[in-house]
Amino acid sequence: MARQIRFLNTLSRRTETFEPLDDAHVRMYTCGPTVYNFAHIGNLRTFLFEDVLRRTLQAFGYRVTQVMNLTDIDDKTIKGAAAEGVSLREFTDRYVQAFFEDLRTLRVQRAEHYPRATDFIPEMVALVQRLTERGYTYVQDGSTYFRIAAFPSYGKLSGIDLNQVRPGARVDADEYEKEDVRDFVLWKASKDGEPAWDSRLGRGRPGWHLECSAMAMTLLGESFDIHTGAVDNIFPHHENEIAQSEAATGKAFVHTWLHAEHLIVEGQKMAKSLGNFFTLRDLLAQGHNPLAIRYLLISVPYRQKLNFTFDGLHAAQAAIERIENTLRRLAHTPAVTGAGALAAAAIEEFESEFDAGLADDLNTARGLGALHVLLTRINQALDGEGITGAMRERLQAAMAHMDDVMGIVPSGTRVATGDEAEIEALIAERVAARAARAFARADAIRGELAARGIVLEDTPHGTVWRRQR
Ligand code: AMP
Ligand code: ZN
Repeated sequence: MARQIRFLNTLSRRTETFEPLDDAHVRMYTCGPTVYNFAHIGNLRTFLFEDVLRRTLQAFGYRVTQVMNLTDIDDKTIKGAAAEGVSLREFTDRYVQAFFEDLRTLRVQRAEHYPRATDFIPEMVALVQRLTERGYTYVQDGSTYFRIAAFPSYGKLSGIDLNQVRPGARVDADEYEKEDVRDFVLWKASKDGEPAWDSRLGRGRPGWHLECSAMAMTLLGESFDIHTGAVDNIFPHHENEIAQSEAATGKAFVHTWLHAEHLIVEGQKMAKSLGNFFTLRDLLAQGHNPLAIRYLLISVPYRQKLNFTFDGLHAAQAAIERIENTLRRLAHTPAVTGAGALAAAAIEEFESEFDAGLADDLNTARGLGALHVLLTRINQALDGEGITGAMRERLQAAMAHMDDVMGIVPSGTRVATGDEAEIEALIAERVAARAARAFARADAIRGELAARGIVLEDTPHGTVWRRQR
């Protein structure tokens, strides 16, 4: 039995207990990047929210089938390829590769499907034909448009006011504002210098909104569980996806819609067009730790704006080091026998609070708050009477569960790797040197480790070490 989770559904505007349509199998569609540039950390905040969503569902016992599209044909990719004089495929391939690298760097789990829009043109054409058969389209100057007046529930996701809409007024751009709600383009007549496909709709190319409806329904079915994006996707993109899909099938398209709030910088949305953005590469080049970036971007619940600052990034780095040092200390401090200072109740309290936070519309702040309380208790116990072997194992299991969802524990900490064996050999040599009263050698080893940023602490249980901040 999968565990219960509650989501604030953008469509119903209510917090609901989630129930997949098909038992414990969750089918979800997460709008992917437009591959015309490197993703900025605002985009990545949204992709990380989706990663935490996926990981939480899995940790709660659901099977997840996730689709993330790659928008490789739209106004922006066409413009970018033309500016460089290369083919659309060559241009977008570069950013598809970069995107996957970013996901790996940030430990984002892979989705089951990454469809590229240009690989689904026949499905898109078929969807428009279905809409035409049902009377939802019209053709103007070789382009096919969706007639929103024919779909009475248009606006149900975004709550736009249809009264101001002039019937027959059209918009061709992929992106436009709420004030500009009009019949939108499904299939655009070919223009000079633009990629185009021959189809029964005439020579042309798909509009952006059509792409997601066609790929989602092809890979997940006509009705599925969760669809996500950031708040700027609500209108027009997701509103149009609902209209196209439901008008074609007569069925509910998606049950639960989840939208992440924006990453902002000095009060403004981080956006390519505003020039106020950092890519992941920018931050890595400045020496920032990918895990700290991940921590920062998931630390604020997705329905709240996240204000990006370097102070926030430094605080996230401190949190990562605190996790690393505590777990290392826990692993390397000899266990005590008897009662020990840490009771099972403290771990149970952490586990239930962590899961309760996530079950409450993915409240990551609550989960991380519980984590820090536990870290304090572990350190207090290690400073005091110590921890028993059984408790240590319970703690390590609890941390592994936490990390399955959050993905923030430095990899060396779960299992000793890298330079750790070497550090420990030096510490053992130092202990032996001290026992043999070879203090000069012992001090030299301490100095050598200090130069590498390793701090030693001699405790009643032996020598423990941690990396210096
Ligand atoms: P794009 O590559 O422009 O299609 O954007 C990819 C995803 O990032 C979309 O779901 C956008 O809504 C989302 N997004 C864009 N800007 C931000 C931001 N500042 N904060 C969070 N998400 C964003
Ligand atoms: Zn989409």
